[in-house]
Amino acid sequence: MTSRPRIGVYICHCGTNIAATVDVEAVTEFAQTLPGVVVARQYTYMCSEPGQALIKEDGRKLGLDRVVVASCSPRMHEPTFRAASQEGGVNPYRFEMANIREQCSWVHQDRGEATEKAKALVAAAVAKAIRLEPLEEREVGVTPGVVVIGGGVAGLVAALDVANAGFPAYIVEKSDHLGGRVAELNRTFPELEPVSEWLPALIERVQAHPNITLFLKAQVVGVEGYVGSFEVAVTGSRGTGEQGSREQGGAHVLSVGAIIVATGYNVFDPHAKPEFGYGRYPQVITTLEMERRLAEGDLAVDGRVPQEVVFIKCVGSRDVRLGHSYCSRVCCQVSGKQAQLVRQLLPESRVTVFYIDVRAFGKRGEEFYDEARRAGVRYRRGNVSEIYRRGDRVVLRVEDTLLRKTVEQEADLVVLAVGMEPREDVDDVAALLKLPRSADGFFLEAHPKLRPVDTAVDGVFLAGCCQGPKDIPDTVAQAKAAAASALIPLLRGTVPIISETAVVDSDLCAGCGMCVEVCPFDAPALDPLWGVSRVNAVLCKGCGACAVTCPSKAIRVQHFTPDQILAQVDALVE
Ligand code: SF4
Ligand code: SF4
Ligand code: SF4
Repeated sequence: MTSRPRIGVYICHCGTNIAATVDVEAVTEFAQTLPGVVVARQYTYMCSEPGQALIKEDGRKLGLDRVVVASCSPRMHEPTFRAASQEGGVNPYRFEMANIREQCSWVHQDRGEATEKAKALVAAAVAKAIRLEPLEEREVGVTPGVVVIGGGVAGLVAALDVANAGFPAYIVEKSDHLGGRVAELNRTFPELEPVSEWLPALIERVQAHPNITLFLKAQVVGVEGYVGSFEVAVTGSRGTGEQGSREQGGAHVLSVGAIIVATGYNVFDPHAKPEFGYGRYPQVITTLEMERRLAEGDLAVDGRVPQEVVFIKCVGSRDVRLGHSYCSRVCCQVSGKQAQLVRQLLPESRVTVFYIDVRAFGKRGEEFYDEARRAGVRYRRGNVSEIYRRGDRVVLRVEDTLLRKTVEQEADLVVLAVGMEPREDVDDVAALLKLPRSADGFFLEAHPKLRPVDTAVDGVFLAGCCQGPKDIPDTVAQAKAAAASALIPLLRGTVPIISETAVVDSDLCAGCGMCVEVCPFDAPALDPLWGVSRVNAVLCKGCGACAVTCPSKAIRVQHFTPDQILAQVDALVE
């Protein structure tokens, strides 16, 4: 005979977030009348230390076996309350959360109605809690090592941090050299420091590191496995080091515990804006081409030293028609940097920057913009609609958005501040690693604030501009964050597996394979011997797609079983 449940219910005020709209006292009194509830309490902030202490103490003193917290969305604090329940002697999977903030107090104004809804949500959570089964937390081992896809600055920094922690790092770079886009630059802002003063040294440290293996002109062609145990197939020529790979069908297969994606970006091709005459007029070049000319100290066009130099910002960025509504974040400062260098090289020249607005964020960004203006660079707000030729010069037709009139500006040299866009192979990498992308086409992080380098795939992390435009300091910071995150499972030696996974009842499974087809994470597979589905719990995310698809009702997702969900629904509609 099963013992009666002993449930503790805790209602949170969330300061005034909940308490201003919901009568917390009334909800607490109501909770005390629900079946199985032995204690119901309220507190100002349940997520605080004293709030959690209530759960822990009641768990031990009252012998609770289930806990319900009515508060905010489970997204933030479910782990907090699960841990508190566990410390109180309650299985963490016998914890349930009722969201009376986002789904109640924040979306209702009538106090009476909001209170009744909060009671219904608490009753539903208690009804589910009664049916919750204790689940075991499991762990799997971790293969020490990290594959870093991309040998630009982000990839180099991430690999070095992994290697310096004592683990093998494998850099897989598509081109025949390291350094990525930064290797094409002359000087960096705001210090105007030559790239040659730091990038070659970084590359040398990577090349000399005994824990780093390089694959140049190489490509990842297959990824199998899961966090802690990936098998990454790489084609291409191998550089230094020998550890951790074997030859298989012409590809190196690297066994690692984590993967860092640092594939970088493409520079916008201004041929897509034919009105600027790029490719037709030798006077029109990009900021990338200007880097090389500044490095050589030769800005002449057809042998003529330019007197009138114009920069156009936001080329290929902030342009809805191109599908690039985002800001590329660096081109304002790149223009300012190059404009200053032109003034240094050609003090007699006139340098004008046409802008929509100036985005000079970041450390020393605003000061750098001031320095450009003090150096004599003219900033003029205006949209350039067209460039055409007039003799040896070109003419820009510009709508001056301050004067509200169309003006013409002659120039000997026009520099297009081209932005960033996702690489042409972004679809291939996304398909290999099952990575989602955001609306702008770059790879999508798991959470923009709390998990900015994680992805939807456990054990796969993002570094640098493959996640979105950023400057070198932000790229390096993100690379270091990605390396630190990848090192967590490596240093622990094990990774926990979620317990809310799909399980198959072999007696009911007809072996139709529909669950295999529908699973976005390749977790189920048909057992070749028995002809029934088996779910790899490490790959399963508990999304439930298979459970609702299975025609034999042979799959259920633990912690979200039909009887638990129907009990919740019944309580809500009673
Ligand atoms: Fe435009 Fe400046 Fe943003 Fe580049 S950084 S897209 S130039 S606003
Ligand atoms: Fe078996 Fe259901 Fe999967 Fe078909 S969908 S293979 S019946 S578990
Ligand atoms: Fe795949 Fe989702 Fe089913 Fe898990 S619950 S096996 S992730 S479809």
